[in-house]
Amino acid sequence: MSYKAEYIWIDGTEPSARLRSKTKILADGAELPEWGFDGSSTNQAPGDNSDCVLKPVFSCPDPVRGGNHVLVLCEVYLVDGTPHPTNNRARLLPVAERYAGQEPWFGIEQEYTFFQDGRPLGFPAVGYPAPQGPYYCGVGADEVFGREIVEKHLDACLEAGLNISGINAEVMPGQWEFQVGPAGPVEVADHLWIARWLLYRIAEEYDVAATLDAKPAKGDWNGAGAHTNFSTRAMREGYDAIITACESLGAPGKVEEHIAGYGHGIEERLTGHHETAPHDVYSYGVSNRGASVRIPWQVEVDKKGYIEDRRPNANIDPYNVTRLLVNTCCAALENAGQA
Ligand code: ADP
Ligand code: MN
Ligand code: MN
Ligand code: MN
Repeated sequence: MSYKAEYIWIDGTEPSARLRSKTKILADGAELPEWGFDGSSTNQAPGDNSDCVLKPVFSCPDPVRGGNHVLVLCEVYLVDGTPHPTNNRARLLPVAERYAGQEPWFGIEQEYTFFQDGRPLGFPAVGYPAPQGPYYCGVGADEVFGREIVEKHLDACLEAGLNISGINAEVMPGQWEFQVGPAGPVEVADHLWIARWLLYRIAEEYDVAATLDAKPAKGDWNGAGAHTNFSTRAMREGYDAIITACESLGAPGKVEEHIAGYGHGIEERLTGHHETAPHDVYSYGVSNRGASVRIPWQVEVDKKGYIEDRRPNANIDPYNVTRLLVNTCCAALENAGQA
């Protein structure tokens, strides 16, 4: 007997990477081998030197095929054994290792928008739907579009054993969110990439495309973000560490460094409208959804917990975002003796 392994990897498409996958048939009991692909078809290699290497790094049950079939997330390597320049996971690993003692946790809120016939699901063929207001966490056919796909996706994530923590309908018609975490910096990003693949794969059956575009509908419509909730052990135990983390993100050079890694088109989304802060001015505040970083109300009451960086775009590579947050906040906490 044999089983099917769906090898999934992140490609080199600019400005935002896409997921690619292909199937390998393996004998029952066989381990997941390294594999290769044509990098000239994924913006990862020139045609005259096209071979790239897939190294399995995380696998889980395949809820689409069922049985003993598996999904296999891979890192991309060059044939000389070095990580491909598009391999941001390899860049994260040493940083995660360096600060593992602080036990950083992440919860990422992945917003996305369903599209059909070239427009957001729920948008009429001509003109626009009623203005935003009733859609967020809405119920009823006049407010909610695509719930069947969303429910199937949630079940699939659970069947795959992913650390998914919730779902909700978002502010614009056809827009939704799922949350992954809390989990460590590598795990949360691995699970998020697989959850994205499952979303695309399941929506495919409905002739619907899910997009992570940060500004899927121009005009007075909500953008799509990936709010990133973050804590370390010290932050989960006391408020001084919460403030240290918030302050560290506003240190000289840090705003630009983070914004550069928080997804393509972030200037279009972080306008200061629609519950965002302007991209070039850093701020933090309790309960403030107009700040770059929000300290949840309950965290201020409890004097411990986590912070929410509201800046990352829906189209982030989560390996970059968790690396930046660990690098900036954990270094500052260490320096402050709060590690
Ligand atoms: P919002 O109120 O901003 O919509 P959500 O409920 O959508 O927030 O998402 C909050 C996320 O924060 C969840 O993924 C949750 O697992 C995560 N989270 C909760 N506690 C922590 C923590 N201590 N550290 C990091 N993430 C956390
Ligand atoms: Mn949320
Ligand atoms: Mn949201
Ligand atoms: Mn949020």
